[in-house]
Amino acid sequence: MVRAHGPAPSFFETVNIYFEKAASLCDYPRGLLDQIKVPNAVYAVQFPIRRENGDYEVISGWRVHHSHHRTPVKGGIRYAPEVNEDEVKALAALMTYKCAIVDVPFGGAKGGVRIDTKKYSADEIQQITRRYTTELIKKNFIGPGVDVPAPDYGTGPREMAWIADTYMTFHPGQIDGLASVTGKPVTQGGIRGRVEATGRGIYYGLREAMLQTEDMKALKLSPGLAGKRVVVQGLGNVGYHAAKFCEEAGCVIIALAERNGAVYRPQGLDVDAVAKHLRETGSILNYPGAENLVPTHAALELDCDILIPAALENQITGENAPRIKAKIVAEGANGPTTAEAEKILLARNVLIVPDVYLNAGGVTVSYFEWVKNLSHVRFGRVGKRFEEASFERVVHAIERSTGHRFDDGERRAIVHGADEVDLVNSGLEETMIGAYHQIREIWKSDSRVTDQRTAAFLCAVRKVATSYLELGVFP
Ligand code: NAD
Repeated sequence: MVRAHGPAPSFFETVNIYFEKAASLCDYPRGLLDQIKVPNAVYAVQFPIRRENGDYEVISGWRVHHSHHRTPVKGGIRYAPEVNEDEVKALAALMTYKCAIVDVPFGGAKGGVRIDTKKYSADEIQQITRRYTTELIKKNFIGPGVDVPAPDYGTGPREMAWIADTYMTFHPGQIDGLASVTGKPVTQGGIRGRVEATGRGIYYGLREAMLQTEDMKALKLSPGLAGKRVVVQGLGNVGYHAAKFCEEAGCVIIALAERNGAVYRPQGLDVDAVAKHLRETGSILNYPGAENLVPTHAALELDCDILIPAALENQITGENAPRIKAKIVAEGANGPTTAEAEKILLARNVLIVPDVYLNAGGVTVSYFEWVKNLSHVRFGRVGKRFEEASFERVVHAIERSTGHRFDDGERRAIVHGADEVDLVNSGLEETMIGAYHQIREIWKSDSRVTDQRTAAFLCAVRKVATSYLELGVFP
């Protein structure tokens, strides 16, 4: 597409376009808005590693603290071949707004290492991860009260375990050391429910959006997720779990897209079976009974009710937005829709449930993990048996007074005391539902706010501004 007005805005510029749209609806001093908008600290680092073939290689990494209005700051670490400073700044800024929206008491941060993980062995990735962590330690860019990283694109529990171990090695005996990073394996101080948290949060958020009868009527959709045709881009952590929870809720997953192509089956795909096929063959293509779509971007343009981009930024652009047929774009990835695309979609009455809200489930459960690490006790451990004994007494009392006998299944369901994963999921559900209504209230009550992203940014800007004002920084 030929542009009339120069190059497309960068990712960070795009985030700032959204910020300014919301800021123009506030009457805070310009200096305060600028302080909210700018990254507070940017650390760029280059370090050498030795490859297994004996070669030396210089690796580039970044860690950006977008906002110190609350500490620690928090945000994932991304491993990808195209990572750059602008992208890390954009992702860090999104973290500030995201944490504010879901009332997670952190400032925003993000990290990035420019590597293509497919080109390195597990040992080499371990070496890079430990060295990157050491560089963060040297500059005080990591620590339970300073900056708490988490997984993002290209990283997962394995990398988080290496980061925690490196941090603890440099801080022997620091009792809260495990709280220096979240998304760890459960055996290394992680929390049950973190791996699937972002996808589960997307499901809770989407479910809440679709329960609003009036909003669904405007889209000519029936309320609820059941029967809705869904396309998911990216079958990694976020995409797989979002697809899985939507499938369990009765959605028909008509297409799943990966890097090299997509598979399409209008009657619905079995998410687990496609994921297994991808693992076993190394490609999503040629899944039995489904049609291959190549190039992969064709999947975004399929006729469907809900499109969940869950891979990377800048996927829905000014170029393909006119061909997007989904009625709802549920942003699982960070920044999947460019500002230009957003204009086109909004003009066509597409509901965009924005990333800053919808993928906040990961950081919400990371917050629970951090609290768990600081309190040194698993959620549910103290109260579970006591709760179960109380419920058991209630069941007995009901049985005695009514003569009704509960069967074993009913009894188990009633007396079950909350364990860690129950509490994590309950906290996540409460957070996603509560935040959705905060955003919707702004969206519906202020006639200047015509889309959910602006409402979400406005919600975030107000909370961060209040925090600065209450700190007395802007008397
Ligand atoms: P991941 O590495 O687990 O998975 C990403 C998947 O996308 C991979 O399977 C990859 O092959 C695929 N992919 C890459 N390019 C693609 C393309 N052009 N078309 C289709 N598929 C493609 O990463 P993730 O953790 O699932 O992160 C995905 C997105 O969600 C990122 O934008 C990330 O910032 C965001 N996010 C992640 C979390 C989290 O908890 N992991 C939380 C919030 C937001």
